[in-house]
Amino acid sequence: MIHEVLQVGPLRCNCSILGDEQTKQAIVVDPGDDISEIIAILSRHALKVIAIVITHAHIDHIDGAEKLKTATGAPVYMNENDQDLYDHLDVQARWLGIAAPNQTEIDVTVRDGDTLKLAGRDLHVLFTPGHTQGSICLWIPSENKLLSGDTLFRESIGRTDLPGGDGRKLLVSIRDKLLKLPDETDVLPGHGGATTIGHERVSNPFLRN
Ligand SMILES: [Zn+2]
Repeated sequence: MIHEVLQVGPLRCNCSILGDEQTKQAIVVDPGDDISEIIAILSRHALKVIAIVITHAHIDHIDGAEKLKTATGAPVYMNENDQDLYDHLDVQARWLGIAAPNQTEIDVTVRDGDTLKLAGRDLHVLFTPGHTQGSICLWIPSENKLLSGDTLFRESIGRTDLPGGDGRKLLVSIRDKLLKLPDETDVLPGHGGATTIGHERVSNPFLRN
């Protein structure tokens, strides 16, 4: 599987471009900004986007969704519990002092247990509320890989002081959904460096108790 990671926008959100070498199908996760750079990577691999997946509706993860959808025609997937956040992108834009982007329709709501397909690979949707009410992670067992959004970071966890945040829910999500995965699972968070489930299980100070 092709997996390109691009740090997009002022908050350097990790945008993932997942592609299949044979079918040339691709899924883009969290196109927060820098859509022209994302499109350049897609063209370099001759990939066609079949889905745009949003781990949660914070502006640094969703800002470019409308642009990428317009450019590729691909449907946008997100959990419905973040629709309200998405409907207030103008408020989020003001926090950052940037202009609010155009909004698009969410075409498909994704829920816990849903599975997206990328050329025979399963991408499992794990519903992990806490950072926001509609946060999801994507687990790709065939690649031993988890895209953890802003739920779990290397030796840290997502902030819960923004609207919709809930610290208790976040810890329950991590314990019941993420720490159930095998230790050797590679984790790519929504910001910062990669880690593994095993490393976080022993070294994450927020998960001690
Ligand atoms: Zn976030």
